[in-house]
Amino acid sequence: KKYVYNFSEGNKDMKSLLGGKGANLGEMKGLGISVPPGFTITTESCNSYYENGERIKPEILKQINEQLQILEENIGKKLGSIDNPLLVSVRSGAVFSMPGMMDTILNLGLNDETTIALAKKNNNYRFAYDSYRRFIQMFSDVVMDVEKYKFEEVLTRVKNANGYEQDSELNEKDLFNIVEEFKAIYKKEVGREFPMSVKEQLMLAIEAVFRSWNNNRAKVYRRLHNISDKLGTAVNIQAMVFGNMGDNCGTGVSFSRNPVTGEDELFGEYLINAQGEDVVAGIRTPKNISVLKDDMPHLYKEFVEISKKLEQHYKDMQDIEFTIEDGRLYILQTRNAKRTPNAVVEVAVSLAEEGVISKEEVILRVGTEEINKLLHATFEEKSLKEAKQLTQGLAASPGAAVGGIYFTAQEAVEAAKTKPVILVREETSPEDIEGMISSEAIVTLRGGMTSHAAVVARGMGKCCVCGCQNMIINYAEKTLKIAGVTLHEGDIISVDGSSGKVYLGEVDKVDAKFSNRFNKLLGWADGIRELKVLANADNETDAKVAFEFGAEGIGLCRTEHMFFEEDRISLVRKMILASDTNERLRFLDRLQPIQSEDFYKIFKEAQGKSVNIRLLDPPLHEFLPKDKNTVKLIAEEIGISVNQLEAKIASIAEFNPMMGHRGCRLGITYPEIYLMQAKAISSAAIRARKEGIEVNVEIMIPLVGLEKELAVLREQIVELVEKEIQLYNADFKYKVGTMIEIPRACLIADKIAEHADFFSFGTNDLTQLTFGYSRDDAEKFIDIYKKKNILESDPFVHLDDSGVLELMKLAVEKAKTTKSGIKLGICGEHGGDERSILLCSKIGLGYVSCSPYRVIIARIAAAKAAI
Ligand code: ADP
Ligand code: MG
Ligand code: MG
Repeated sequence: KKYVYNFSEGNKDMKSLLGGKGANLGEMKGLGISVPPGFTITTESCNSYYENGERIKPEILKQINEQLQILEENIGKKLGSIDNPLLVSVRSGAVFSMPGMMDTILNLGLNDETTIALAKKNNNYRFAYDSYRRFIQMFSDVVMDVEKYKFEEVLTRVKNANGYEQDSELNEKDLFNIVEEFKAIYKKEVGREFPMSVKEQLMLAIEAVFRSWNNNRAKVYRRLHNISDKLGTAVNIQAMVFGNMGDNCGTGVSFSRNPVTGEDELFGEYLINAQGEDVVAGIRTPKNISVLKDDMPHLYKEFVEISKKLEQHYKDMQDIEFTIEDGRLYILQTRNAKRTPNAVVEVAVSLAEEGVISKEEVILRVGTEEINKLLHATFEEKSLKEAKQLTQGLAASPGAAVGGIYFTAQEAVEAAKTKPVILVREETSPEDIEGMISSEAIVTLRGGMTSHAAVVARGMGKCCVCGCQNMIINYAEKTLKIAGVTLHEGDIISVDGSSGKVYLGEVDKVDAKFSNRFNKLLGWADGIRELKVLANADNETDAKVAFEFGAEGIGLCRTEHMFFEEDRISLVRKMILASDTNERLRFLDRLQPIQSEDFYKIFKEAQGKSVNIRLLDPPLHEFLPKDKNTVKLIAEEIGISVNQLEAKIASIAEFNPMMGHRGCRLGITYPEIYLMQAKAISSAAIRARKEGIEVNVEIMIPLVGLEKELAVLREQIVELVEKEIQLYNADFKYKVGTMIEIPRACLIADKIAEHADFFSFGTNDLTQLTFGYSRDDAEKFIDIYKKKNILESDPFVHLDDSGVLELMKLAVEKAKTTKSGIKLGICGEHGGDERSILLCSKIGLGYVSCSPYRVIIARIAAAKAAI
């Protein structure tokens, strides 16, 4: 079996075997781009390493040695040679990029002797010892888990003693001494000498990269991004090129477009005379990539060309790592760039405009959860002007966040359980990942647009401001001194990731606006999709928002929510507590015009779009007073004693209300309630028609499980509505149908369909009743089920694609045998979830209905379902 591939044997389609980095290095070689030679040890080797008790099989070792030899011959240098030593980097490379999560070692192959050889060969002792000290530090960290700061302390001390500001000022003597100290630290921490055998260095490094697959931060990252633990990482062994040999050398990172806004311009940073991750680490302040135009004009031009070429080739914006050695440009990595949700849209749509990708491809590229973030708020202008600005950093990742400040990842995680938090740090590192996840925003003192904090935050769509240089953080005292104020842990700040400004206290937020390209994308989605997208809206305000987001109708209007409003709840309570039908009718008569007014307003918003009104659904006792004072008040109003009232309330209470006296059962036992609602609907429709407003109303009866329930209720309702229509000589379109949310209803859907003009799957209740999980209590065990892999996902979030879906499928088939053209759709939370929407389309539903803020997402998801 082949476990090791030369770069020249790889290409971009071999990601699962070679990892993203290795596959793309191979691809770039094939494109004729200058990439230092090397080879990739496959992800299968990593899995074999684990299966084999954390040891590399001899077969793999043999192939590594063969490839090493080829590399040595190819480049004319030898690992460990004291004439012309080969140095390599050992680079991790997972299938999906996990920036900064795993480990890389540079300059491997240096020991006391080869360092001298390297110095002589290049006539540059400073460079050789700079490389050596970097190697010792990285090797100790990655392979032996010696903490980085132990080495950083030495560097800082030497720099301070000599009055240097930057690492690049260290001279050869300094570096020679530093190497000696580093080796001593290694010996002290590890209990052995630093390994002088280069082969041993190489093997230990390869194993360490394999092991880094399972370090804690990598695991957390995988969980966050739903990446399987089984994929394993590849290891790339690559000849070193040196950005730290002098002033005609350097290293940098650049995006082919702006990853914040999506604009078509290079966006990156570089450092002269530096190596590897110096740019990202925030040790020195890097230069903007545009400065390279003046520093090294022909290299800048070359880089621009490569960047365009890679973009065209990969048909996407790239994130490119490069190094300049002695005036020659090398590309060390390219990958599809992480970007803000805003840039996702801008880049995808502009690529389509440029003819690089199709409209369908654009739709497939935008993740609905990213879009969701795009819809998030920004700060309100006026409130912003009044706020005290604390600092202006780099606008690393847009968004508006308000929260209490915390200075460590752990404290942020803890505090975030009860309130919004903002993580404030000098800089972030991969260990902070959990803290970043829990925070609303991240603010750092150091680091640029490509720093760890910036890249990771953009990937998460999280607000981030970097490089706020006027901050003084005191970790010990947990204080932040800034702009003349001292803030303590928990104090509130507001962070504007779009401007890079940070404000004291809480600034008000406003909803997001859509860019032209975003609207264009939505237009494309609408052209492609077949599912209609409706919204759940209980009042005119929600309806208005829903229509602004492009809802084609109201798929669910829950009438009970109107009952809870201040001025009517007392009427509702008295209606429920009425001692006989007559008394109940009296209160219903008073409620009717109020409901009618509500419906009229919604019809007015809808302007002829369909409005689906669900008749009263929840168990009655939900409306009853819970606190003593209210009970007393109501007792007085009705004119009975508190005791009598309490007894009455107790008699209505149920052991299992979700499965109790609710939905159409109320309609059957108290026909007058549903009739009042039907009358309110009719009179609202008649009023609207008089004003020339089109009305297209659907009356929905909830919780039907028996054919008869629907038959009886339908007859009563139709009779009433027809009478009203005749009486007022009105004409409005109405349908009567049902919610399908009881498993039994699915099983007899053909019979139920005889009395229904439409079915709307109420998948919240259907899931609850199919699983036998109470929606309100299931959280406790669903989380554990997920962790133990008993459930793949929460069935209340993503529609259960076997059980519940099977019932729905059956219901659809059966319903169609009775009425081939019956209107079918879904309302409830699943209607706004991409995965569930795909399933709904698969079983032949005609529409989805979701909350107004999910409408945009549903429009895009529905388009995906049609592609
Ligand atoms: P990561 O996956 O964390 O980005 P990389 O393997 O890309 O880690 O390595 C980080 C950096 O190390 C690269 O961006 C590059 O600057 C430097 N590097 C890696 N390999 C080489 C090499 N062969 N020559 C010079 N620099 C290298
Ligand atoms: Mg890295
Ligand atoms: Mg990299």
